[in-house]
Amino acid sequence: MTQESLQTPAPETHEFRAEIRQLLDIVIHSLYTHREIFVRELVSNAADALEKFRHEALVNPEIPERDRELHIAISTDEEAKSLTIADNGIGMTRDDLAENLGTIAHSGTKKFLAQAAEAGKGDVNLIGQFGVGFYSAFMVAKKVTVETRSYHSDSQGWRWESDGTGSYSIAPAPDAPRGTRITLELKEDAEEFAKDSEIKSIIQRFSNFVAFPINVAGEKVNTVQAIWARSKNGVSDEEYTEFYKFVANAHDEPHYHLHFTADAPLAINSLLFIPKDNVERMGFGRTRPGVDLYCRKVLIMKHPEELLPEWMRFVRGVIDSEDLPLNISRETLQDNRLVRKLSSVITGKLLSFLDDQAKADPKKYNEFYKVHASFLKEGAVQDFAHRDKLAKLLRFESSNTEPGQTISLSEYVARMADEQKDIYYINGSSRQAIEAGPYLEAFKARGIEVLFTFEPIDDFVMTNLMTFEEKRLVSADQGDLDLPGEEKTGEGEPLTSEEVEALCKWVKETLGDRVQEVKASKRLVESPAVATTAAGMTSAMQRLMMSMNKEGSSMSFTTLELNPHHPLVHRLNELRKDEGASELAGELTGQLYDNALLAAGLLLDPRNMVERMNRLLAKAAGL
Ligand code: ADP
Ligand code: MG
Repeated sequence: MTQESLQTPAPETHEFRAEIRQLLDIVIHSLYTHREIFVRELVSNAADALEKFRHEALVNPEIPERDRELHIAISTDEEAKSLTIADNGIGMTRDDLAENLGTIAHSGTKKFLAQAAEAGKGDVNLIGQFGVGFYSAFMVAKKVTVETRSYHSDSQGWRWESDGTGSYSIAPAPDAPRGTRITLELKEDAEEFAKDSEIKSIIQRFSNFVAFPINVAGEKVNTVQAIWARSKNGVSDEEYTEFYKFVANAHDEPHYHLHFTADAPLAINSLLFIPKDNVERMGFGRTRPGVDLYCRKVLIMKHPEELLPEWMRFVRGVIDSEDLPLNISRETLQDNRLVRKLSSVITGKLLSFLDDQAKADPKKYNEFYKVHASFLKEGAVQDFAHRDKLAKLLRFESSNTEPGQTISLSEYVARMADEQKDIYYINGSSRQAIEAGPYLEAFKARGIEVLFTFEPIDDFVMTNLMTFEEKRLVSADQGDLDLPGEEKTGEGEPLTSEEVEALCKWVKETLGDRVQEVKASKRLVESPAVATTAAGMTSAMQRLMMSMNKEGSSMSFTTLELNPHHPLVHRLNELRKDEGASELAGELTGQLYDNALLAAGLLLDPRNMVERMNRLLAKAAGL
């Protein structure tokens, strides 16, 4: 045995967990474009490690060497075709190594894997987003070595090594200084990353705002700057965009930026961005929050979940408040009075900002709204404290707008007639479907505007808001609508009230449990019948209940309203009294009701209806 191996035991070999093997397989075999982003991933890991050390050093006086200058040092070796990225940050213990570089803790990763597998090739832009950053090194390296020593005073150094295929090894590295040093032995087709000039230009593109000096071959290459702490007037649009790309791992410009400074009630410097895209809408699973919390330019927490309301998870950026305690933890974040205050100030500020933007540039606001409406709606349902401000930001098509054009609730209220007390809306799958249905008739006849909503969540939004500017939000498919203005009816003579009563009773007996109530309609003009729902229940809610409980008795929420002016209703009344026509009367009743349910989107199983239609057709054809 040599002297060397006596001192240091042989490396232990460990298998990667299955999900890592899967990930590495994609990274190594499928990702060929934008490979340079591995630099950003490793540099941001180094910066994270430096932030953690700086933070520890601030709150923990036990830490030695605390005034040593913190930095990232990068060196290349063209001949050896290698690249080294070193930091003097927090480092890793042996357990840390196995934990951090052997498993994937992030929930988004599984999703990424599934999607990458589906697409047949991974989208490299997603790597950073899903927190699989370290493994991106294997896009360019045939072997990766990590030498590290934790900042804990009694820690020893370790060396982690892998070629990215199935396993990694861990061995002691007694000489490793505090921090982490990652060496990449580059693949033949990745030699360009062994050039200083190449690395410098990549850093300037992707890592310019890293808060620590990045030295390449001893020369500092980045701008170390807390842009959010600077005065608004001194920051150019290009700088905002560049910073956005950095904090949000983005590749484009932000849709909006909000640079906000306050002294009271809290000292705040914040810079928030709203991206152009909504990846949730594109099917990439739930977005994770993306606003970092700083205190006097020191990162306290990256992307804390508890800081801002959940619906704000699409916002990216930085919040810096010097009033916060440095030693605040994820656990205490929610209970901290200052944090709650900070959250509500920032949320209120963002909402006012959006309202201002909507007024100043409606076209730009509408572009934002199209993409991010789902978050605002979620907020309107869940965030009670900000509900009123969120409601103002919502937009809807209506019976008075052109297709695709929208209005706000405030605009709706402003153009309501004096005698109109409530705000009316109706949910349907499309504008055409709503306009073809029977519900609008009564509103059209009286010239009352109705808001159109097209998604199930809109129904929850409306029922949760309940009111807007003290006006009730009422679904137009409810029975017992007390509409303002003159009563409008169809043209023909109505049935007498005794006849109507007898007819309704007979129809109810004919339909049995399928219907809750049958009555004469006061709202219909042209249609013979309409299905309405009880107050507080909309047909969209009922559809949802029915889809959850297919065999259920949810039908009984429905009322059938008959139009006493309509010739078909008159005829039905005659037929029900004619003993020879009882079969036809029954068929007509069933069909009238199914047509009404169909218009309401409440006919789940059309089989009976189709059979009945065929029988009626046969009769009409004289068979
Ligand atoms: P993420 O950065 O999203 O956590 P990564 O795959 O980039 O995911 O890194 C995994 C983990 O490895 C990090 O969370 C960190 O704990 C550890 N790590 C990576 N690089 C370093 C480093 N330079 N210093 C200390 N720890 C590191
Ligand atoms: Mg990372």
